[in-house]
Amino acid sequence: MSDLLTRAYAPAEFRRQGHALIDQLADYLERVDDYPANPYATPEESLEEFRALLARGAGAEEIFERVIARSVHLHHPAYLGHQVVPPAPLSALSDVAASLLNTGMAIFEMGRPGTAMERLVIERFAELLELDSGAGGFLTSGGSLANLTALLAARARHESRDGGGRYCLLVNEHAHYCIERAVRVMGWGADGIVHVPTDDHLRMRTELIDGLLQDARDRGLTPIALVGSACTTATGTYDPITALADAAEKHQLWLHIDGAHGAAVRLDPARRHLVEGLERVDSLTLDFHKMLMAPAITTGLFFRRGTDAYRTFQQRAEYLLTATEEPEDWANIARRSFECTKRMLSLRIFTLLSVYGSQLFVDYVSRVGELGQELARGVNRRPELELFMPPDINIVCFRFHRPDLDLASRNGLNGLIRTRMTESGQTYIVQTTLDGEVYLRCTLTNAFTTTAELDAMLEQVVALGNEWLALRANLGA
Ligand SMILES: *Cc1c(COP(=O)(O)O)cnc(C)c1O
Repeated sequence: MSDLLTRAYAPAEFRRQGHALIDQLADYLERVDDYPANPYATPEESLEEFRALLARGAGAEEIFERVIARSVHLHHPAYLGHQVVPPAPLSALSDVAASLLNTGMAIFEMGRPGTAMERLVIERFAELLELDSGAGGFLTSGGSLANLTALLAARARHESRDGGGRYCLLVNEHAHYCIERAVRVMGWGADGIVHVPTDDHLRMRTELIDGLLQDARDRGLTPIALVGSACTTATGTYDPITALADAAEKHQLWLHIDGAHGAAVRLDPARRHLVEGLERVDSLTLDFHKMLMAPAITTGLFFRRGTDAYRTFQQRAEYLLTATEEPEDWANIARRSFECTKRMLSLRIFTLLSVYGSQLFVDYVSRVGELGQELARGVNRRPELELFMPPDINIVCFRFHRPDLDLASRNGLNGLIRTRMTESGQTYIVQTTLDGEVYLRCTLTNAFTTTAELDAMLEQVVALGNEWLALRANLGA
C-alpha cells in the first residue's frame, strides 16, 4: 500500500487535523470582530497568494488560516451584504460528518439516514410553514434548481390534462432571473415569460392578470402558471399570495411561489401576514441557506399535493429506481429530485431541529426582521439618506440623496460610495439598480448585528457622500 494513501486516510492524522481545525474555527468565531468584515483583494492578488501557497505545499492549518482570513466574514456583525446566512455552527459541523460519510442519496439503500431525516425535515417545515396537510416535497441544490423543478411539474400536470401548446407563465417583472432562465431551459423562448407590471413597492399588480392572460392567448400562447415572489431578491417585496391564488384558481393555472429568500417569514408572528395564503400554492421554493441558518446550498421544494412532486421526472432510470407503480415511493428521492448523487442536506437541519428545537428558527427569523426595521429607522433619522421603500423584512434599499443632484450624479455618487466601502473593508454592503436609479442594498442576515454596526455603516455612507460633494464644490463643478 502506498505510504501517501495510508497517510491521507489515517484516523490519527484526521484526529489531529480535525481538532486543529475546530480550534481554529472556534477561535475565529470568538474573535471575528477583529477581522475586517470584507477583506479587500483584487482577483490577481488572490490568485497570486494562493498560487504561492500551493507552490510551496503549505500545510492544512496554514491553508485554513489563510482561507479564513481572506474570506468575507458572514459571522461579523458588520456583514450586511448578500443574502447568504452565517450558518449555525452545528449545521456546519453536520456537513463535516456528511462529507466524510459521503453516502449519496439517490436511492434509499445508499442513503438510509439521510433519506429518513429528509422526510422528517420536510414534514416538520411543512407544519411550521402551515402548508396543506397533504403537502410533501424534498431537499435540493439551490433555489434556481427548485424553481425549474417546480415549473417542470407544472408543465407535466398541464400536459397530463390538456396536451401541448406554446407555453408561457406570468411573473413579477422584478422576479429573480432564474425564473427566466428556467423558461429558456424549458425551451419556451422569449415569449414564454410574461412580465406583470408592478406598483410602487414593486409588487405584482394582480388586477392586470386577467387582461395579460387574454392577451397571451390572443398571441397564440398557452399560459400554464403564475409565479409569485416571497420575496423579490432586490427589494424584499412580497407579491400578494391570496390574490395570486384566487387568479390561479379562476384560470386553472399552477401557482408557484419563489420563497427562496423570504417564505420563512411565515415563522415570525409579527410578519407572517406577508405570506398569507401560502397554504394554497401548488409549489413553494424555500432556501434554508438564506433565512434558516444552514450552509449553502440547502433548498426545500414543497408541493401542496405531495404526489405532484413525482410529476417532474416520470421517465425512469430502471437501474436506480424500483419498478414499483406506487406513486408514493418516497424513500427513493431521485424519483423526484434533479440530483442523482446528492449531499446529505437533511443533516444540516435535522441536527438544529433536534438539538435546539424549531423555536431557534422562529427566533432567528424574528430577529433579522426586526433588524430590517431598525436599519430603516436609522436611514429615516438621517436627512442625507432616503429609503427605497419601508422594508418588509431584512432586505433594505436606500441611498444618499440630495434634491439638487441629477440622475447621473446621484447614481455615480452612490456607486462610488459602495466602491469605497468595499475597499475599506469595514462593512459589506451591495448595490442594486431599480428603474434606472442606483441604491445601496443591505441584507440583515447576521442575528448578532447591533444598532452600533448599523449606525457606523450609515455614518460612513453619509461621510463619503458629503466628502464627495465637498470635493465637487471645491473643483467648482
Ligand atoms: C436567492 C434566490 C434565488 C436563487 O436561489 P439559489 O439558492 O441561489 O439558487 C431564487 N429566487 C429568489 C427570490 C432568491 O432570493
